[in-house]
Amino acid sequence: MNDLKSYRVLVTPTSYARNDPKLRTELEAQVGEVVYNTKGRPLTSDELVQVIPQIDGFIAGLDKIDRAVIGAASRLKVIARYGVGVDGVDLNAAKEIGIVVTNTPGANSASVAELTVGLILSLARDIPVAAQETKSGHWPRLSGLSLEGKVIGLLGFGAIGRQVARRLVGFNCSILAYDPYPDREYAQTTAVELFSRDEVIGKSDFLSLHLPLSQETQDLVDGTFLQKMKPGAFLINTSRGELVDELALYAAIQSGHLGGAALDVFTQQPPDAENPLLTLPQVIATPHMGAHTDGATNAMGWRALNDCLAVLRGEKPKHRVA
Ligand code: NAD
Repeated sequence: MNDLKSYRVLVTPTSYARNDPKLRTELEAQVGEVVYNTKGRPLTSDELVQVIPQIDGFIAGLDKIDRAVIGAASRLKVIARYGVGVDGVDLNAAKEIGIVVTNTPGANSASVAELTVGLILSLARDIPVAAQETKSGHWPRLSGLSLEGKVIGLLGFGAIGRQVARRLVGFNCSILAYDPYPDREYAQTTAVELFSRDEVIGKSDFLSLHLPLSQETQDLVDGTFLQKMKPGAFLINTSRGELVDELALYAAIQSGHLGGAALDVFTQQPPDAENPLLTLPQVIATPHMGAHTDGATNAMGWRALNDCLAVLRGEKPKHRVA
């Protein structure tokens, strides 16, 4: 077993240990030194290149861990992603020099699913506008949409997609899903109908994205995709901003083809103040907070910490992705 006291660990997620201080004390007791991110946001590649040469273990948030960072990581043994998506990590570069990459599958799926259902309800009933108007002294007679009888489509039926489906069952809506590798048994027990991608896009009143960002899925939701959506339908994205061509989405809402969208993620985070989507009343925007709950931050924190320490000790991690 390696002596952890000679190791330095970098921790960048801003919500790490927010709900459980033991995540800090445990890590600090185990290793020689812990370096925390004080920027209050994910680190850029340039910032990481400065710090990474002195780091042995990295508990990583949504930072840009590209080839330049990996190239400078002469002591690094493990990148333990605090979350599911590994689109921010150059996995090939890490593999080439033997840096282990882990993630925390399922740790935040209930929380992201809860936010997704909240966003669907917020779109259906215009809750943000209603709340703001009422506080401003107005008493608007708004007319919303009931979820009962509507069609909700899920693109991606993995850990989060399945949790969304499970939570929607009580709303008496139809739930459709597309996934290249669907869990058919789970679909059956939650009364989810599996369809082709285009059928899910075309039939849904509310279409929610739950697939990873990759070279194949970048800009998946472009003008052609949006035209296939049902007139008046809503798009919900709690996955990754880069899945969506934001200008095409703006045009689809502005033209009246789509009813609106709820976005927890953007191509640039935080989005540029000039991002036209932010000007539309039909758009609900949240600050990439799907996993920011007590339950999710604790589960992500402990799984990332345990796998980071396991690799530093020379042991096998539980959730290795590369
Ligand atoms: P997961 O790996 O369990 O599920 C992803 C599913 O997408 C898999 O079943 C996969 O087969 C499917 N898929 C892959 N390519 C597809 C395609 N082209 N079309 C349809 N389905 C496809 O991951 P998960 O835990 O469900 O997370 C999904 C994504 O959510 C993550 O990759 C991450 O980007 C995002 N996420 C966001 C937040 C947030 O805070 N908003 C938090 C956690 C995860």
